[in-house]
Amino acid sequence: MVTTHNLGFPRIGARRELKFALESYWKGQSSRDALTALGATLRQRHWQQQSALDLVPVGDFSFYDQVLDTSFMLGNLPERARHFHGDTLDNVFRVARGRSAQGAEEHTACCAGIAAGEMTKWFDTNYHYIVPEFTADTTFRLDASRLLQQLAEARAQHVRAKPVIIGPVSYLWLGKAKDDTDRLALLERLLPVYAELLAQLAAQGVEWVQIDEPVLVTELDADWQQALGHAYRQLATDHIRVLLASYFGPLQDNLPLACRLPVAGLHVDAVNARDELPSLLKLLPSDKVLSLGVINGRNIWKADLAATLDWLEPVAAQLGERLWIAPSCSLLHVPVDLASEQKLDADIRSWLAFALQKLDELAVLATALNRGRTAVAAELAENAAAIAARRTSPRVTNPAVKAAVSCISPALGQRQSPYPVRIRKQSALLALPPYPTTTIGSFPQTAEIRQVRSRYKAGELSEAAYRTAIQAEIAHCIREQEALGLDVLVHGEAERNDMVEYFGEQLDGYAFSQFGWVQSYGSRCVKPPILFGDISRPKPMTVEWIRYAQSLTDKPMKGMLTGPVTILNWSFVRDDQPRSVSCQQLALAIREEVLDLERAGVRIIQIDEAALREGLPLRRSQWQAYLDWAVEAFRISANGVQDETQIHTHMCYSEFNDIIAAIAGMDADVITIETSRSDMELLDVFDDFKYPNEIGPGVYDIHSPNIPTREHIVQLMQKAAERIPAGRLWVNPDCGLKTRQWAEVIPALTQMVAAARTLRATV
Ligand code: GLN
Ligand code: ZN
Repeated sequence: MVTTHNLGFPRIGARRELKFALESYWKGQSSRDALTALGATLRQRHWQQQSALDLVPVGDFSFYDQVLDTSFMLGNLPERARHFHGDTLDNVFRVARGRSAQGAEEHTACCAGIAAGEMTKWFDTNYHYIVPEFTADTTFRLDASRLLQQLAEARAQHVRAKPVIIGPVSYLWLGKAKDDTDRLALLERLLPVYAELLAQLAAQGVEWVQIDEPVLVTELDADWQQALGHAYRQLATDHIRVLLASYFGPLQDNLPLACRLPVAGLHVDAVNARDELPSLLKLLPSDKVLSLGVINGRNIWKADLAATLDWLEPVAAQLGERLWIAPSCSLLHVPVDLASEQKLDADIRSWLAFALQKLDELAVLATALNRGRTAVAAELAENAAAIAARRTSPRVTNPAVKAAVSCISPALGQRQSPYPVRIRKQSALLALPPYPTTTIGSFPQTAEIRQVRSRYKAGELSEAAYRTAIQAEIAHCIREQEALGLDVLVHGEAERNDMVEYFGEQLDGYAFSQFGWVQSYGSRCVKPPILFGDISRPKPMTVEWIRYAQSLTDKPMKGMLTGPVTILNWSFVRDDQPRSVSCQQLALAIREEVLDLERAGVRIIQIDEAALREGLPLRRSQWQAYLDWAVEAFRISANGVQDETQIHTHMCYSEFNDIIAAIAGMDADVITIETSRSDMELLDVFDDFKYPNEIGPGVYDIHSPNIPTREHIVQLMQKAAERIPAGRLWVNPDCGLKTRQWAEVIPALTQMVAAARTLRATV
């Protein structure tokens, strides 16, 4: 008999119950008891929904983040959070979100304000965790209360519980040393705490514990590999069985190591590492369980069950009881329940599986393995029909798009002339002053604008009334920019709910769910659009608004688009063709829009690639291949224009050192980036690389309500000019202004424009 299990379940709730409860608690509108009660309700519901499994994950529930919970469990709080004498959960939130100083003087050392912990992406997902902090003085002390309480709850519910914890090596790997401590040097201090934890779980009668070591799918130096061996030799015990879990990719050169570790079982991502199965079967000692992640935990597509059984049945025959099956990774990265979707097109809906449906698929596979395919003949037939329908659907395949992709040649990504020639023509035409000022695109998204959009969507507002309302907003936005004295204006993006969804909604090949939310961090969720078919653009998407905006001003209007790589990286994408091909299709669609904008007389076009960096593969050895096709897609989208048309791009992050060549390869005439918090030091990378084109280093942080001063901006730009010739610098904020109020934007931009004027006086 094959054993079924799950690595983790989404905790946010099918209707984002946890999000709303958290936000209400943070606002002081509901009690902590109400919040913890909701947590218990969600856990209970989620265990109930997983009850068909042989082993159910416990401890995967978190009010904020599982890595932060691990830091608390291991007694590794940043110094600034250690002396809090309130409730632990409140301290979790303090570290997660930061808190501004408040309350009585005598509490400055305990309850006063603290800075939020740093947040970063969990491997190659869009989930963000709170980075553990280490110093030479870091010590660890076990507090397993949270996990043990969840275990007790699960037991009371007669759940066949398998506690889930992050392993010691991945925990150290995920953290950051705040001094020059070598994180691995802390392993000796950490292992006794893990040993104690395993002993406590064993004392509770736990048979299996899942220890996640996702570092196993990354490129590990010899010392990290040795650390894994050392850790699991130290932790080896007869009292509890360890299932060591890897996911998100193949093991590659860590495979022999993973097979050798003295644990009772190994979980591998069989969706991404199918090719490694023969080596695994050869190298894994015959007393160990092999858990295969056979259902993709990262996408929303139905699995092809018959095809899976074709390769899985022989493995099951070979392994017998030693075979376990599960989703490839925690289901944290997919929405909860397809059954909630009432508005999705019926065809597309029939091709999808969210978390609960994925568990159903797993159950079908298990039954087929245990009792033969005939025992689930109806389920398999239904699955086969859906897979076949999707494969042959004319909604998925568009021959014209396929033909256009096959005609892509390097010439398509090539501007007419090199940058020095272009910039001369552009300068002559645009006649901008030195240190030209601009913004990144969006202006405040007021409650009124949101209401206009949602009433229009709900059919309560006519098309004509909607257009009038948006035009009024654009006109207002342009009046404000003219009054501020900005040089290159934008229309303000009032018509856009989201920079990807807006384009997805107008492209053929995209679908939208109502409840397809996935946790991004804390209470924040995203609802990625579903890229299901060949992408085409039935009609212009932005031209009408930009043309209207340009008609209101003599200043140059910057047309605003989202780039193909960002649209791709923020979508659920197809599993039936390479990401690179979907990206090419998006690039062709955006290219058409660029050319239409140019024909409409728009002289400057910005193509945002906010998520280009996010698409980098886990392994560095694969970076170049990704960057090659991503940069090429950008170039295809941008480079069909005349020399005179100025292409801008924007990226709102501050790590360019390892991708600067690719950034330069995009060959945008102007790039605007986030720099204000790095004190312009980020520009060193551009300087060292001799980045040739124009740069707008952000001069103030738009995430903060603080108003920058003219002096500070001047200083920043002077630092910038030490690195980049002044003649190639623009002055702009770090990112779009949609989350700010007009009352913040006007004074901030006033200072920015004043700073640019001061700087001009110096050239
Ligand atoms: N043009 C977008 C805006 O201004 C860019 C947003 C982003 O980079 N995340 O809102
Ligand atoms: Zn940005």
